[in-house]
Amino acid sequence: MDKIIKTITESGSFRAYVLDATETVKTAQEKHQTLSSSTVALGRTLIANLILAANQKGDSKVTVKVIGNSSFGHVISVADTNGQVKGYIQNKGVDIKKTATGEVLVGPFMGQGHFVVITDYGTGNPYTSTTPLITGEIGEDFAYYLTESEQTPSAVGLNVLLDENDQVKVAGGFMLQVLPGAKEEEIARFEKRIQSMPAISTLLESEDHINALLTAIYGDDSYKVLSEEEIGFVCDCSRERFEGALITLGKEELEAMAKEDHGAEITCQFCETTYTFTEEDLEGLIND
Ligand SMILES: [Zn+2]
Repeated sequence: MDKIIKTITESGSFRAYVLDATETVKTAQEKHQTLSSSTVALGRTLIANLILAANQKGDSKVTVKVIGNSSFGHVISVADTNGQVKGYIQNKGVDIKKTATGEVLVGPFMGQGHFVVITDYGTGNPYTSTTPLITGEIGEDFAYYLTESEQTPSAVGLNVLLDENDQVKVAGGFMLQVLPGAKEEEIARFEKRIQSMPAISTLLESEDHINALLTAIYGDDSYKVLSEEEIGFVCDCSRERFEGALITLGKEELEAMAKEDHGAEITCQFCETTYTFTEEDLEGLIND
């Protein structure tokens, strides 16, 4: 079971979210059949999105769009405050590795572009905020977004590690934020610790990576756990929802689909589930 843990220092000056998203990214890979670089790019976006949604209260929804101008195309995901996330990458087939180390490459295939966050508080008045992509590696772009757009100094580490068959081995990350009232010596201590922290991949390789992350973040500083919540890849699509979408096409279009195409097939972009509507189904919708 994947989870996100929210923690805060005893002093209340720093907070950190750490998460294990291994099953979440595995499910995304299975549903979309992504190749190596595409799996990592999509997985990192899902992790960033889960952290952003965990930062919201009530019944909010957060959409993340990583819009690059290179091979991946767009990566789109949506997460809610209940820990559910869904997402897809336009080009599933990017599979580029360094010959020497076998390391999967991401940044160059995102290219230049924007990190877009749309927050819907359920009021029907979503709030959009955009920052430029810094490296296209998604973690750095996300940290830049948090610092620039939300004006909260933040350190972020997130990654997806693959096994020798390019299947997801482990996925997760953290976000550390300075809260108002933090003392200078405390900030200096945390900065130093974050700078000397092992690479996120090394921490994720640890047997208990949640604990490894917490130890790397807090060192000897005491902290408390505020909450521990389940997260996962869940798509909220349904046949009813696509029926609704078909109805909005109008009677004429539906009649053409029924008579000329003898039915319709719709595949959900977020989870690849295909819904089939026969000629009779379409006529039923027309008569409704
Ligand atoms: Zn779906």
